[in-house]
Amino acid sequence: MCRSVLIDIVSAFPEMFQSVFGESMIKRTVGKGLVTIRIHDLRDYTADRHRQVDDCPFGGGPGMVMKPEPFFEAVEAVRQGKTGAMESRVLLMSPQGSTLTQAKVRELSRIDHLVILCGHYEGVDERVRLYLADEEISIGDYVLTGGELAAMVVVDSLVRLVPGALRVSSLEEESFSRGLLEYPQYTRPREYRGMGVPEILLSGDHERIRRWREQRALQKTRERRPDLLGGQDEK
Ligand code: SAM
Repeated sequence: MCRSVLIDIVSAFPEMFQSVFGESMIKRTVGKGLVTIRIHDLRDYTADRHRQVDDCPFGGGPGMVMKPEPFFEAVEAVRQGKTGAMESRVLLMSPQGSTLTQAKVRELSRIDHLVILCGHYEGVDERVRLYLADEEISIGDYVLTGGELAAMVVVDSLVRLVPGALRVSSLEEESFSRGLLEYPQYTRPREYRGMGVPEILLSGDHERIRRWREQRALQKTRERRPDLLGGQDEK
């Protein structure tokens, strides 16, 4: 029986998730019951009339900083009812975190319960990072307006790896899975505006096709991402 992963996302802009999560792989995986995604409005965890989630930075400076209390309250609320046996991890989306890689996505896909916290504005009160988050994740060395897009990237990359979401064979040959980029892919038509398809792919000889793909994957990786080979190329 396939296990199910629970993902709780805490955001001040919950509507941003609707269209992305309502399409394609994420929608299918949720539909199969392999993943449950709950989006929580950070403003529901405020105590004031204005449902304020941000405030001026202590010490002065530009912009607004997200207050700690709504994040703490939200995490406590989503954790209620969870049994101790369920492995749970709180991720803070942050440009200062460790960069997301396929290896990290694989690790996260094995955790039963993820809580993803999305910052916005100038960022999040440091106490959230220090005392609430288990880990900070960045999706790259650039600054986004908010953690929502980063959370979508984490969820999208992760749900594909949940057992039952995709055929194992599609995952095995994918870029980064074996330390290689994937081989070139072609489909119909056989010729388009004078551009053809490598003859070998039309040969029906599965062993030759397998060897060709292996060589091309290696060649592509050597040309574009030699860092992935990490010395194994010299063997
Ligand atoms: N002032 C912060 C800094 O310089 O580190 C940047 C704040 S950013 C404008 C607002 C929020 O967007 C962050 O709190 C984080 O949640 C999210 N964010 C921005 N860039 C990100 C990235 N590369 N990866 C993940 N989250 C990011």
